[in-house]
Amino acid sequence: MNSPVASRDWHALAAACRPDGRMLIDGVRQASAAGETFACISPIDGRTIAQVSRGQAADIDAAVSSARRAFDDGRWAHKPPAVRKKVLLRFAEKILAAKDELALLETLDMGKPIQHSLGVDVASAARCIAWYGEAVDKVYDEIAPTARSALALITREPMGVVGAIVPWNYPMIMSAWKLGPALAAGNSVVLKPSEKSPLTALRLAELAIEAGLPEGVFNVVPGYGHEAGEALALHMEVDAIGFTGSTRVGRKMLEYAGRSNLKRVYNELGGKSAFIVFDDYNDIARAACTVAGSMFFNQGESCNAPSRVLVHDSVADEFIATVAAEAPKYQPGDPLSGAAPMGALVDDGQLRTVLGYIDAGHSDGARLVAGGRQTRADTGGYFVEPTIFDGVTNQMKIAREEIFGPVMSVIRFKTEAEAIAIANDSPYGLQASVWSHQIDRAHRVARALHAGTVHVNQYDEDDITVPFGGFKQSGNGRDKSLHAFDKYTELKTTWLRIDGG
Ligand code: NAD
Repeated sequence: MNSPVASRDWHALAAACRPDGRMLIDGVRQASAAGETFACISPIDGRTIAQVSRGQAADIDAAVSSARRAFDDGRWAHKPPAVRKKVLLRFAEKILAAKDELALLETLDMGKPIQHSLGVDVASAARCIAWYGEAVDKVYDEIAPTARSALALITREPMGVVGAIVPWNYPMIMSAWKLGPALAAGNSVVLKPSEKSPLTALRLAELAIEAGLPEGVFNVVPGYGHEAGEALALHMEVDAIGFTGSTRVGRKMLEYAGRSNLKRVYNELGGKSAFIVFDDYNDIARAACTVAGSMFFNQGESCNAPSRVLVHDSVADEFIATVAAEAPKYQPGDPLSGAAPMGALVDDGQLRTVLGYIDAGHSDGARLVAGGRQTRADTGGYFVEPTIFDGVTNQMKIAREEIFGPVMSVIRFKTEAEAIAIANDSPYGLQASVWSHQIDRAHRVARALHAGTVHVNQYDEDDITVPFGGFKQSGNGRDKSLHAFDKYTELKTTWLRIDGG
């Protein structure tokens, strides 16, 4: 980063920040048709930082019409891939050039530490857009090995209008994971950010237009899920929905498609990922430090957080003592200080939800070994201590349900078969991790786990080049990598007769 976190007075920048909360349709910032807004509240201190357009069905209709017109006249879809590439690369450069502004908006809007917004969220969003820009003129179509009397071309065609509905935990990154492949493939997009963190999505759309993306190709309508979100997912002129969010709402996405035009639905949903430590792994401290870092990153508000930690009985005491000693290092602090390891939970509702799960852990008989309380309440923000429960069974509520906060559950096991059975006994299947030095065991267990991503002896290795998504009720389809093009393109076969062939 050119501007180290410490070189900025983030509090002064925050005090001067006046975000524009209006929708962006057809290249123009505008109020919603009904003129309604909602207050965008910062979880850092409970202050209102902007009034944001409360998009409803009429606004979604305007945005989808704009996207449809832009798609049908080919102003983007018919541009040569090399031209789409240039625009997307410029878009990525503009994101990086606006990094301080975007990072500040992200931190104020959803509460994560500023150094993470800057070094992770802005950087990853820019890299994602650039990567798909680079990819688009390097992906070839196919010719099938048919008889010589005919030629069968198999081409990828853009879908048309893509509705992207994203959550609040990584607002820019989740938007970029949809925008990158959808725009690179030539689609038009209507993005509905979460009502809890709408600000960076609106700014991204302005930057895309500045970079040369034609008006109408990328529209943003903020609003509530049951209003703007539902209207987008039910719209007859939307060809595909790229959804990231809860399994509860993912279910609705499938219903909306069934009730409307059978649009393609790609769901990236929740998780309850298992982190399995075997007794043959000889660096318990490393495993414990890794799980603490991964669990408490982003305040535990990560779909792939290792929230179920399965530890072999014979090393469990050592593991728990080490991880409990790590926990205080993640004590939440001022997200604008540049030094806080954890920030604020996204809103008061999420704070109540997380504290409710901590109560459930106590009442189900789990043993609290770290944290467990709200903290920094005097700031007006929503902070919870890094929390660890030992003695959890897989039937307890804190082991079965996604908490989406800084709460780790430790479950002890005795055999490999038991560990696999516990890990797979979950409606979710997003990610897992196996810690073992036995190569046979590592492979055997990795294969047996029902999860979209399995790590061995680490947890957070990540790159835009690899697919990300879940088995079971963690969703379908994959974000990232070239596989994401599968979601935003249709395969077309074109047969040509070859006389005398
Ligand atoms: P959510 O499901 O409540 O909301 C997600 C989006 O859907 C928001 O934009 C919301 O406004 C919208 N929405 C809500 N109700 C709707 C409805 N009835 N119709 C249409 N749209 C509706 O999820 P959240 O609380 O914002 O995010 C947390 C969830 O996201 C967690 O479950 C987390 O695991 C998941 N997530 C998954 C991934 C992944 O890649 N698998 C990544 C990040 C987050």
